[in-house]
Amino acid sequence: MAVILFFFGHWFSSLFSQTFFLHRYAAHRMFSMSKFWERAFYLFTYVTQGSSFLNPRAYAIMHRMHHAYSDTEKDPHSPHYFKSMFKMMWRAKDYYLDLLLRRVEPEKGFDKNIPEWPGFDRFADSWTMRFIWVGLYIVFYVLFATSPWMFLLLPLHFIMGPIHGGIVNWCGLHSIFLH
Ligand SMILES: [Zn+2]
Repeated sequence: MAVILFFFGHWFSSLFSQTFFLHRYAAHRMFSMSKFWERAFYLFTYVTQGSSFLNPRAYAIMHRMHHAYSDTEKDPHSPHYFKSMFKMMWRAKDYYLDLLLRRVEPEKGFDKNIPEWPGFDRFADSWTMRFIWVGLYIVFYVLFATSPWMFLLLPLHFIMGPIHGGIVNWCGLHSIFLH
């Protein structure tokens, strides 16, 4: 029971963070927040996404490009341009890392008015922290799983963030679900 609650709790809270903070706030600025609440939701997004935390700045830039260049080759994750979901997500991952590590400069305008917190990102996006999150999920399952099949859910916890992005985008559900 604890495992099932944890699974759905993690799933829905990370989906909420992605929709509310990353998509509506960071990428589209559908509403405004004070600096305090921005930081609070930044932290909330981090905790709910854990090992698969999506950096708000990189997410917002990629999402804005996705809207601006929908379904052309400049779209970092267009389901129409790529033959397979795997290839699409691989290219999205590469571009995401380029933005995260600031190896590329986004085109003018795409990085305007985005929540940024470089000091926190250095800590949050480190491999050490990702492994610590993965370790915590495993410990939770070891303590509370009542049946071996439950461990099959574990990998979903590790990659919760990209799963949402991939499914929503690939199925063309973006406009239905998120707008
Ligand atoms: Zn959007």
